[in-house]
Amino acid sequence: EAKDAGRGVAKYFSAELQNEQDDRIRLETDLRNAIAAKQFHLVFQPLVSAKNQKLIGFEALIRWNHPQRGLVPPPVFIPIAEECGLMMQLGEWVIEEAIRATASWPEPITVALNISPKQIVLPSLPNMVSQALARHKVAGNRIELEVTEGVFLGDGSQTLDVLKRLRALGVGIALDDFGTGYSSIGYLNKAVFHKLKIDGSFVREAGSRPENIAIIQSIVQLARSFRMTVTAEGVETAEDFERMRDLGCDTIQGYLFGRPLSYERANQMVLGLSAQQRKAG
Ligand code: C2E
Ligand code: MG
Ligand code: MG
Ligand code: MG
Repeated sequence: EAKDAGRGVAKYFSAELQNEQDDRIRLETDLRNAIAAKQFHLVFQPLVSAKNQKLIGFEALIRWNHPQRGLVPPPVFIPIAEECGLMMQLGEWVIEEAIRATASWPEPITVALNISPKQIVLPSLPNMVSQALARHKVAGNRIELEVTEGVFLGDGSQTLDVLKRLRALGVGIALDDFGTGYSSIGYLNKAVFHKLKIDGSFVREAGSRPENIAIIQSIVQLARSFRMTVTAEGVETAEDFERMRDLGCDTIQGYLFGRPLSYERANQMVLGLSAQQRKAG
């Protein structure tokens, strides 16, 4: 009897697994058509200065509006795109669109965009970026590429070479999600990063976990000694903000200062800012 019950469970699990696999295959097929079908768009989340809370720029984040499923979150479809060889193409689309948006905004507004480890292995990435910058007449220092430590899992020396060539274009390189994953300070000693982004989960837990404060303090010190700046992600409350500012973070990002916005809403924010500056000047 127990054996029968066990078999029932096994059957149930395998049916569920089968459904999951079918679902994934469907998503993969849909993903292959999604660029041509124009189902992607970028949203832009504000980054503000910790000093005066003024808008510095945005992080561009991809959104997939699936015709049946609605919005599919990036943590669901990015790994699929990476595994089925679509990340190059998707990444190229992101670079083009993020730089197009940057071109439409005045200096010193900057735009950060995320780069997958799968794109870093491509030696032609720096060329692709420099051509997009030239096409839109945007200076390299107006964009920033965000990479995670995952980029060092493969051929570290090739990654380093690609990152250095990107830096040579004036492009900023930020180490994203710092404080999670394999965070090794070994990577920092390579003189390619100009910024550390402290992961949002870490920032939000700081209130309830005092040990996080000590870690954030040492991250800020580390950044200073390597002449990097620090962004705190995931700042949702005034307390989060004050804590991160007082700990020495330079830039703040999170729902407190704005959710990821449509291009139009981000543009209104930029226009509002320049109107203010004209009044002040
Ligand atoms: P990320 O680069 O660390 O981006 C920050 C994520 O935190 C975004 O989620 C953002 O919407 C979310 N976030 C920002 N402020 C807050 C806050 O105050 N509270 C909370 N709870 N969350 C906040 P999103 O847009 O879902 O993106 C998730 C991840 O997907 C990104 O993490 C990034 O790793 C990846 N991703 C997004 N867009 C792209 C892209 O264009 N290319 C690549 N390769 N990866 C992308
Ligand atoms: Mg990011
Ligand atoms: Mg992050
Ligand atoms: Mg993240």
